[in-house]
Amino acid sequence: MREKSRELFERSKKVAPGGVHSPVRSFRSVDGTPIFFTEAQGPYLKSVDGETFIDYCQSFGPLMLGHRDPDIEEVVKQTVSMAWSFGAAEPYSLELAEWITSHVPWVEKLRFVCSGTEAVMSALRVARAATGRTKILKFDGCYHGHVDSLLVKAGSGLAGEASSDSAGVTALHSQETLVVSLNDDKALEEVWARHGHEIAAWILEPLPANYGLLIQREEFIKKGVELARRHGALVIFDEVISGFRVAVGGMAEKLGIKPDLVTYGKVIGGGFPVGAYGGRRDLMDLVAPQGPVYQAGTLSANPIGMRAGLATLKKIEREKVRETLRGRGALLKKSIEALANSNGLPLEVTCFESLLWIHYKGEMSIRSVSQIPANHKPLFNKMFHGLLNNQVYLAPSGFEVSFLSLAHSDEILNKTLDAVAKVFRELA
Ligand SMILES: *Cc1c(COP(=O)(O)O)cnc(C)c1O
Repeated sequence: MREKSRELFERSKKVAPGGVHSPVRSFRSVDGTPIFFTEAQGPYLKSVDGETFIDYCQSFGPLMLGHRDPDIEEVVKQTVSMAWSFGAAEPYSLELAEWITSHVPWVEKLRFVCSGTEAVMSALRVARAATGRTKILKFDGCYHGHVDSLLVKAGSGLAGEASSDSAGVTALHSQETLVVSLNDDKALEEVWARHGHEIAAWILEPLPANYGLLIQREEFIKKGVELARRHGALVIFDEVISGFRVAVGGMAEKLGIKPDLVTYGKVIGGGFPVGAYGGRRDLMDLVAPQGPVYQAGTLSANPIGMRAGLATLKKIEREKVRETLRGRGALLKKSIEALANSNGLPLEVTCFESLLWIHYKGEMSIRSVSQIPANHKPLFNKMFHGLLNNQVYLAPSGFEVSFLSLAHSDEILNKTLDAVAKVFRELA
């Protein structure tokens, strides 16, 4: 089965580490072989083996309108016929920057980069320059791209101490970072009490969505912000997933918190490589050439990404996409849970706006990594392969969330639920 994909994977393994260019794509987490896709349209992916799948990965989040939304495709085609890259000043990034700063008031200035990782890396540099401090505080269970100092896990020693979570990340880097568990008030208070004077910034996904969907208590995040402010540290919201998706102002808007700096990626480029960091004017004015913090990029603010991004953000607002997806997300949650129930499967769905995480049922709301039931992965993997055999593609890991797009129409949702019903009967 899927002979062509297997063949391409064998060839790929000879020329790329693990046969892929980003680890989760390898299907290792689900003990499988990756499918190779050649085309995508709306909710669908087409594979080299001639199969078509309903796609709930949507490139891990950028495609809030679905694959190749016709309005965006038109803009991309137009832009390609004008320019690909200037490496010079142009009006397209200005239009996107003006749109964002006028819709997200706490982003007074911003700088475009080419990925979420780059945005985070640069925001940390600004925070260190602004405060003259070195340490960064992060949560275990939040992902911020592959920045050296953030590829860390909780150490075995004192509260907050971190150790490297990747070969090649030096102790020097991991020692710059403090790590605490999500949803742990005591650990958060302790780390600020002990290290508050040396922390430049606290970075968090205000909606942690890279280790399942670990929705935090609002009071917990507010307490963290209060502690950071009291200790003279900056608050960086990493809204690479949540930005524009959960509200035009992301989780910051939902929570009513003004972060000092914010990082964007994914939706902001409409499927093209775009990231951005921005925030308070005085902080962003530290960035070169205005200030002493160096940061640059050959392909930064490339016209295709800028125009696809702007067209995407405008369409989300104009067509009230968020409202539509919120309803569809709630419907999927309810229907999937009902099907799990009637088949006696211990599954539930955590849903927030257009993000969904199907997981092994917890004793209560799952808010930290340690609360994820140990049985989650084996059950998810069975469900994943069952759905795949019924033409529904989830991100190939039980710790990745599913993304709804405008292209997931009622008809698509019904088809999906038919597949889910069938798979759940088989698993029962
Ligand atoms: C995806 C992601 C990143 C990294 O973005 P890339 O474009 O993959 O470098 C950073 N932070 C969060 C919250 C993300 O979800």
